[in-house]
Amino acid sequence: MQWQEKLKKAGFSSLLELAVYAPVGYADTRLSTTLRPGRVHTLNVTIRHLADRGGRLAAQAFLDDFNQPLEITLFHPKPWHRSVFRGGARLLLHGKLERFGHKLQMVNPQKLAKSDGIVPRYRSKLRQDLHRKLVASLVTEANLIGEGLREEEAQLLLRMHRPDGEWLALYERHGGFGPKTLRALKLAEALDWFKRMAKKRTVHEATARLSGSIEPFVKRLPFSLTEGQRKVIEEIAEDLADSTAARRMVVGDVGSGKTMVILASAMMAYPHRAVLMAPTSILARQLYEEARKWLTDEVKIALVSQNETEGEMKEAHLIVGTHALLYKALPPAELVMVDEQHRFGTEQRAKLQALLSKGKKRPHYLQFSATPIPRTQAMIESALVDVSLIEGTPYKKDITTRVVGRGDWEALERHIKQEIAQERQVLVVYPLVESSEGYGYKSLEESEAFWRKRFKGVYVTHGKDREKERVLAEFAQKGKILLTTTVIEVGISLPRLSTVIIVGAERMGLATLHQLRGRVSRTGLKGYCFLLTNQPQSERLAAFCRTTNGFEIARLDLKFRQSGDLLDGKVQSGQTFKWVDLAEDEEIVAEAKRMAAGRSPRAHSKGPDCQNKADQNR
Ligand code: ADP
Ligand code: MG
Repeated sequence: MQWQEKLKKAGFSSLLELAVYAPVGYADTRLSTTLRPGRVHTLNVTIRHLADRGGRLAAQAFLDDFNQPLEITLFHPKPWHRSVFRGGARLLLHGKLERFGHKLQMVNPQKLAKSDGIVPRYRSKLRQDLHRKLVASLVTEANLIGEGLREEEAQLLLRMHRPDGEWLALYERHGGFGPKTLRALKLAEALDWFKRMAKKRTVHEATARLSGSIEPFVKRLPFSLTEGQRKVIEEIAEDLADSTAARRMVVGDVGSGKTMVILASAMMAYPHRAVLMAPTSILARQLYEEARKWLTDEVKIALVSQNETEGEMKEAHLIVGTHALLYKALPPAELVMVDEQHRFGTEQRAKLQALLSKGKKRPHYLQFSATPIPRTQAMIESALVDVSLIEGTPYKKDITTRVVGRGDWEALERHIKQEIAQERQVLVVYPLVESSEGYGYKSLEESEAFWRKRFKGVYVTHGKDREKERVLAEFAQKGKILLTTTVIEVGISLPRLSTVIIVGAERMGLATLHQLRGRVSRTGLKGYCFLLTNQPQSERLAAFCRTTNGFEIARLDLKFRQSGDLLDGKVQSGQTFKWVDLAEDEEIVAEAKRMAAGRSPRAHSKGPDCQNKADQNR
């Protein structure tokens, strides 16, 4: 049988996967040379006498090498125990030695046929001896190096599978694998991932190479593009000019200026057609208007959403719309872009995929997401789709974030009045629409009257509100205070919004809090974020107050989730790795990515070199 087949039969899809399938423990079957009660021993024993004690067997025995008596107790004995442990039998026994008064004792020891040295134990669906055989024959230094590991890591993994006494002593002292072994496991696991994904990644020919100039557009802007925007635009330019269809995810914090990157991409596509899809009609209209404002005059633009259409799709170079686009007969487009792609449902995404997969050649495809992911996660995902991170924001955000309790209401009220007096707006986010007993916080509905009594210009909306978009549009014009649930996450721009108050902040994920906080100070206004909570000691909230960097917050979010700091009692760790920790192992994953790329130079030639950025941050 080929070794690939053997692996497959055992449920492993690669040799590295088998290699990082670490033992869950070891049985030391070497003959014990000293007696240390409390530990597991392997001992030569002669049985003197066996007695049946109703439900258990008790044997008087003798330790041949130590000249000492030993008592053996066998609970729940099987019939064969009586013959194996019969008087006069000489056995090699493995088990925990205990002192019971003056006597040495072993309970339910295991009988070994012979001493096998140190035997690793695996949680395998194969029989232990078969699993060990598989490891012995396949996890060899030559094979590991053949898979792309270096000698150093190969050696570490080999010792883990076939330890000597010295290694085992360290393992026992650490209570697990030492840091070097752990690092080798992580590296091998990440390398395995990159190698497997490289095989999965499909490549399609693009319907057209796009290389329009963005210069006339850039010249029209009243500001210069940020470093972060420019770098990503360059990455996209390279993609679009290629004969292979681009598949890139652009991740940028709220307010990082993704719209300009989208518009620049539409310029590059010109005179070919680009389609841009947004999750709500309000956003679609906003994008449409920005496109009309900034794109050069020869670029014709159309808008398509559930209830409005402007311009002619067939003539347009850029069609902006909502998912309504997916149900229309779209003219062919050479570039497809999706803004806030994470807001689309699975059905819509599936429909979009179908749209993208027509014919053998594919349009270039760019997704934009405002949900920052940890850098390490971005690297992991870059194995399947190219990932660009927009670093930085055009405006230095000046937001003061504070944790406040119920006792702070008066100060908060003063603050709100001050802001409103300066024509600024305040957003108050509630965790629930309707009241819920024992929740610990007032709901949106319960609080409405409270606000209306104290302030003018109070607007209310929430996720299921049919009037949501109209309320938001009206609030943007003349509102002072907006009460809502987390719905506002969707990015309508409110340039006068200076303060967000988040009720029951400890109930929300850091990513959500970050999105909410990102609504304020979008145009450089001094911003404030108040986290109203019954748990002012929360370490998670304290960490959130200290940073506004979305990628760092994503990392913190992951870290706190892994450590089980729970949201509404649910653990939601998106863990797909056994050893790699996406919140901590950036450097190791970067190294694995380089190792994988070194072996197949074409597989990862594109994509962010996250390592550089990481180095700068260290
Ligand atoms: P997001 O990434 O959240 O979609 P937007 O594209 O809406 O962010 O940009 C946020 C704000 O920043 C907008 O008002 C936009 O006009 C402005 N902006 C974008 N790029 C720049 C820049 N390079 N310099 C100054 N302002 C910019
Ligand atoms: Mg946006």
